[in-house]
Amino acid sequence: MITPRYDVITIFPDYMSPLSLSLIGKAEERGLLTTKVTDLRNFATGVHKSVDDTPYGGGAGMVMSPVPWGEAIDAVAHEAEADGYEEHTLIILTPAGRKLDQALAYELAQRKHLIFACGRYEGIDYRITEHYSARPQFKVMEVSIGDYVLGGGEVATLVILEAVIRLIPGVIGNAESLKEESHTLVDEETEPLVEYPNYTKPPVWRDLEVPTELVSGNHGLIAKWRAAKARERTEKLKD
Ligand code: SAM
Repeated sequence: MITPRYDVITIFPDYMSPLSLSLIGKAEERGLLTTKVTDLRNFATGVHKSVDDTPYGGGAGMVMSPVPWGEAIDAVAHEAEADGYEEHTLIILTPAGRKLDQALAYELAQRKHLIFACGRYEGIDYRITEHYSARPQFKVMEVSIGDYVLGGGEVATLVILEAVIRLIPGVIGNAESLKEESHTLVDEETEPLVEYPNYTKPPVWRDLEVPTELVSGNHGLIAKWRAAKARERTEKLKD
């Protein structure tokens, strides 16, 4: 079976070094997935290997040129195709995109090949979105990690990858823990809830006791307490 492959294209490949650490690094070591980082500058031409230019229509800042981007995305897709990946999801990071949530993380975790295009400056020439949207083997998604503006798409890519990769079967030892967490838990009206508060030993810490329900050994009571607390916390967020 083909395992998921995650390509990242950036002008700062070193920014992606956390990919070799912790959950993602271990998952890759165990052969559950592949990550690969590509330096956009390898596809730039000219003495200065420039990847940006002034914006048409004027205004402040620089825009990333579609020329190296097109070459880099084609090369990455080509290499993946040689390894059997027929469809590519091109994720263009932008604060103007669809906001990341747990539902989107689950959706992306179903896809076998994701290509992350990390913008810098004022972003990437929009023809990259238009061109790849018209190519049948590509699905283009513009994705934002929140309503604020970062300096580049690298951190956003790490956030998305961390949210997606923990949903890949086998990455998290106890798959049950994925069912009972924030934004996945649902109540009887199937409204997404945040998780109930968690406690561990010692039973008393700085005069604070663990709620009696959790130490009762009564599974029904524990489930009821957790459901009530999850709902209470979710309601509080709406204030
Ligand atoms: N001019 C753009 C705008 O107003 O929408 C902002 C460009 S930002 C300075 C540079 C790059 O950082 C973007 O192209 C994108 O790749 C990334 N970026 C910034 N904020 C982001 C966010 N909230 N989510 C995802 N990517 C983001």
